[in-house]
Amino acid sequence: MTHVIAPGSTIGIMGGGQLGRMLSLAAAQLGYRCHIFAPEPTSPGGEVSAETTCAEYADNAALTAFAQSCDVVTYEFENVPVGPLDAIAGLVPLRPSPRALEIAQSRIDEKRFVAALGGRTAPFGFAETEAEVPAAMAVAGTPAIIKSNRMGYDGKGQARVMPGDDPVARWHEAGGVPAIIEGFVQFEAEFSVILARAPDGEIRFWDSAENEHVGGILDLSTVPAGPAIAAQIPQARELAAKVAEKLDYVGVLTLEFFATTDGPVFNEMAPRVHNSGHWTIEGAFTSQFENHIRAICGLPLGETALACHRAEMRNLIGEAAHGWPALLADPANHLHLYGKHRAVPGRKMGHVTRISLDPSGARA
Ligand code: AMP
Repeated sequence: MTHVIAPGSTIGIMGGGQLGRMLSLAAAQLGYRCHIFAPEPTSPGGEVSAETTCAEYADNAALTAFAQSCDVVTYEFENVPVGPLDAIAGLVPLRPSPRALEIAQSRIDEKRFVAALGGRTAPFGFAETEAEVPAAMAVAGTPAIIKSNRMGYDGKGQARVMPGDDPVARWHEAGGVPAIIEGFVQFEAEFSVILARAPDGEIRFWDSAENEHVGGILDLSTVPAGPAIAAQIPQARELAAKVAEKLDYVGVLTLEFFATTDGPVFNEMAPRVHNSGHWTIEGAFTSQFENHIRAICGLPLGETALACHRAEMRNLIGEAAHGWPALLADPANHLHLYGKHRAVPGRKMGHVTRISLDPSGARA
């Protein structure tokens, strides 16, 4: 029988960003307290949580005290060093397990792991050094994308190699660090599969969103996804379930795909709630945040079905968040602001969701 971490208990969250904030709000609704562990003294997550520990992720003493104050620990951010986490694993349940983080922290490990489970990926090579770039390019072909193996997100640490470009110069542009070099995928559209898995193995999927990126950053997620994607969802879900089962995963897991004319091509995974699932707060019976909390606490998962005919989530990046008065002037907008003080270009400051209850699927 699953051990239940009852409402009233304390949930530790590694990371203090907007995902931690929305997890903490969902946890509060169910009567839990959250304790954020983050290197920043103030954070979007910390501002809405009962407690914050401000320390580096590798600070063993701080982590031990944190673990002792929590009934379960989870993450809103995958780049938490795994060694220090392993050291607290005997003190508190860690959900999902640090193995999932370890794989997701390395693009090459992630691609190899998913490929071994039968997932299709872009052709990829690995260049740890400048000297290894030509061999990796030979596998990837041109055009290619060079992505730093670690710590890359939202298009950071990436460079494109177009015909005529010098791949070594591009590898330096991507940071001159160990990098995956992958062939350019001709895709029709992009989509994500988000699932919640409970400790007893039950899996629930949300409808897949069609995702549009601008400058490598998610701009818009729309549900239901268009026809190019709909036919590919069963195969993509099958792969996502295999990944979750192989990792004995507990919590919300996201896999991102390209929809191509030959079927779904896996791009990357995130061992956490995901930006392309923010629409679930208003658009699904149970949000990704609530089901993550339910899963890690051993509570029954909530219904994930659509609670509307169409949902659309747009990110508010940088100064776009200053448009909040106009956004609020439209009563159909659900506005979420993350409480970040500086609207730096490229920074996710908030999002706005519109849902439509019109059965014809008219735009929200
Ligand atoms: P990533 O950081 O891997 O999520 O990449 C950010 C975005 O860049 C993706 O959502 C795609 O729009 C684009 N992209 C990444 N990898 C590829 C690829 N191999 N082929 C074509 N587009 C890509």
